[in-house]
Amino acid sequence: MKVTDHIKNAKGKTLFSFEVIPPMKGSNIQDLYDNIDPLMEFNPPFIDVTTSREEYIYINKGNGLFDKRITRMRPGTVGICASIMHKYQVDAIPHLLCGGFTKEETEYVLVDCHYLGIDNVMALRGDSMKDEPYFRPVNGGNAYASDLVAQIADLNEGKYLHDNFEVAHHSDFCIGVAGYPEKHMEAPSLITDLRRLKEKVDAGADYVVTQMFFDNNKYFEFVDKARAAGIDVPIIPGIKPIAVKRHLQLLPQVFKIDLPQDLIEAVESCKDNKAVRQVGIEFAIQQSKELKEAGVPVLHYYSMGKSDNVQAIASQLF
Ligand code: FAD
Repeated sequence: MKVTDHIKNAKGKTLFSFEVIPPMKGSNIQDLYDNIDPLMEFNPPFIDVTTSREEYIYINKGNGLFDKRITRMRPGTVGICASIMHKYQVDAIPHLLCGGFTKEETEYVLVDCHYLGIDNVMALRGDSMKDEPYFRPVNGGNAYASDLVAQIADLNEGKYLHDNFEVAHHSDFCIGVAGYPEKHMEAPSLITDLRRLKEKVDAGADYVVTQMFFDNNKYFEFVDKARAAGIDVPIIPGIKPIAVKRHLQLLPQVFKIDLPQDLIEAVESCKDNKAVRQVGIEFAIQQSKELKEAGVPVLHYYSMGKSDNVQAIASQLF
């Protein structure tokens, strides 16, 4: 079922959902199930599965020289979605990236998704690769998430890239996109970034999931500004519980977000990461309670492959 229909059917009740990361290639999918299992008691109507960007690896040729190759360490997003849907009878949402894929490759992935009965896809640009200073699409790839949304919307009308025959049965994907309460790191301003978000919605996006934030006022202001900019689709808040001390440096550095001073001080005063995890859980519970009281459609958790803290948070809310 479409995310937008799940929200409609909930009739104002806040739903619980979360995101998982595919295991490293070669490892067993059981690890993933072990992390999903404890969260199923909170009845997530959908689970997101991320897609990783490619990485450069260097193969030692043995003569002091290295070959530079490109690989993807966590492939398998669509296959994992199919297995989650089969095992748990919930919707699974693959994240599709512009980065690293030609439009043709994206079309084939979408065809697979349609065959597998996947009703929702999350359309994202992806970040630059680690060694690159800025994002570059591959030749013949989508440059922005709005281009990817447009490609999916075309497919929803039965328009394939190069074929001009009429198709009787075609996809009807519900399309999610990313939104940034503290603006995307490359955007010159929040207002410009919101205009870009509006372009994604105008191209066919049906809902927005936000980047993590730790100050609810930033989410509330973002929603107000988005509504004023004519964005009228559901805006689902993304919540990340702090789990280790290193997050104090890492999260602002990687995601260009601010952390509240009281959270920083509470984490800094922790003796070990077990205590940090508890602080992160308590902070996320308070944050989630306020968002739920404000009537957000869904609380979406970034589990980063570990479910114990999300389980502790959800048990206080759902
Ligand atoms: P876009 O919407 O394309 O925006 C990227 C930047 O370009 C913004 O600064 C925007 O303002 C600007 N822009 C947009 N259109 C134009 C235009 N026409 N001209 C000029 N500038 C423009 N990454 C992954 O690798 N895998 C994942 O699974 C993944 N999941 C995510 C899930 C969520 C909910 C979120 C919030 C992020 C996720 N990301 C993921 C990270 C995401 O790929 C990065 O944040 C990326 O840098 C931007 O992606 P986007 O889809 O927001 O890009």
